[in-house]
Amino acid sequence: MSDTAARPGARERTNPQTPTATDHHVSLAEEWVASNYHPLPVVISHAEGAWVTDVEGRRYLDALAGYSALNFGHLNPILIGAAREQLERLTLTSRAFHSDRLGPFCRDLAALAGKELVLPMNTGAEAVETAIKTSRKWGYEVKGVPDGRARIVVMAGNFHGRTTTIISFSDDPVAHDHYGPYTPGFDTVPYGDLDALEAAITDETVAVLLEPIQGEGGVIIPPDGWLRGVRELTSERGVLMLADEIQSGLGRTGTTFACDLEDVVPDVYILGKALGGGIVPVSAVVADRSVLGVFTPGSHGSTFGGNPLGAAVGQAVVGLLATGEYQERAERLGKVLADGLDRLVGHGIDAVRCRGLWAGVDLDPSLMTGREASHRLLEHGVLVKDTHGSTVRIAPPLVIEEHEIEVLVDAFERILR
Ligand SMILES: *Cc1c(COP(=O)(O)O)cnc(C)c1O
Repeated sequence: MSDTAARPGARERTNPQTPTATDHHVSLAEEWVASNYHPLPVVISHAEGAWVTDVEGRRYLDALAGYSALNFGHLNPILIGAAREQLERLTLTSRAFHSDRLGPFCRDLAALAGKELVLPMNTGAEAVETAIKTSRKWGYEVKGVPDGRARIVVMAGNFHGRTTTIISFSDDPVAHDHYGPYTPGFDTVPYGDLDALEAAITDETVAVLLEPIQGEGGVIIPPDGWLRGVRELTSERGVLMLADEIQSGLGRTGTTFACDLEDVVPDVYILGKALGGGIVPVSAVVADRSVLGVFTPGSHGSTFGGNPLGAAVGQAVVGLLATGEYQERAERLGKVLADGLDRLVGHGIDAVRCRGLWAGVDLDPSLMTGREASHRLLEHGVLVKDTHGSTVRIAPPLVIEEHEIEVLVDAFERILR
């Protein structure tokens, strides 16, 4: 079959006689890639900082930043330098042996988080799984819950990844349905509802798992004081507080962790995405010895977790955050973004939720869907992703400049006209 043959679902072309490079690659993807995503019709081949270039030489402002995996920008010179240096030296040892990279990375990450131990993994979902296993094992061996009875309270509207256990407690039918039988042991309460959480905790509850801000949910910000309330409640009841900061952490909200916005320290940080600098998957669970100390040799593991390449990049990421420069940028420029978007409320935008350089924008649903808005913004040179219905999520790399935020807000203004 030729690359350009028309087939059901193929993108419409203005002139099928002369397919563009974009058409060519979109066709190849439609023919050969499983359809578990529905990408916008742009084919990226190069990138730098906050900008990407497509196969036809058009430039776009990247206001998604790999779902916050690219907090430090595309091809960040410090992170690329760390990766390149490591690539020429040592890439993998497995955890059967030590490498000269893992200790320094974990020391620095633990210091950034103010915790004692790090358990390195690769993807975010693996880190969430690790946190679930940690809290169950802690429940049986430290708290004294009868074996097999541990329960974990989770939030409605959550997104924690895609494994069979994690989607077992997702309430998004697209993520959840037809993957059963499901893993038991989870209780769902409304996000931001402290009374419901209190009522859900029993003697068998080992942990509360939450996103300090729900990213995939549409940048949903809980009521003021809720995180602090969760912290007090979990401490009183002897339950671990697990903060999934995979998307909210590492500078995005103007603080190192979103929990910092309420001066809350969870028992367990779950990190990923930006920890790999947009180069390699690096995730981690970070906690004190009283919690992560439950693991013994062989009780958990990963072939690639903690590999020297990932550790070198991860340590360089921690180095960038240790200066506070990126957090400061996110806070300062986040105000510019919020001001710009707030001006559009009532002019095609119903509501804006903003923390640092992270915004959920609810469009007037009678005007267009989030998907349509994403298409139109693409035509205006800005890349974003819709979440649910009429919501668009904005999360540019933290290296974005003030005048580039104006480009973004201008593009919104134009598509709403
Ligand atoms: C992206 C994300 C995950 C899953 O990370 P993967 O690397 O895709 O497995 C988990 N939790 C949150 C909050 C996320 O945003």
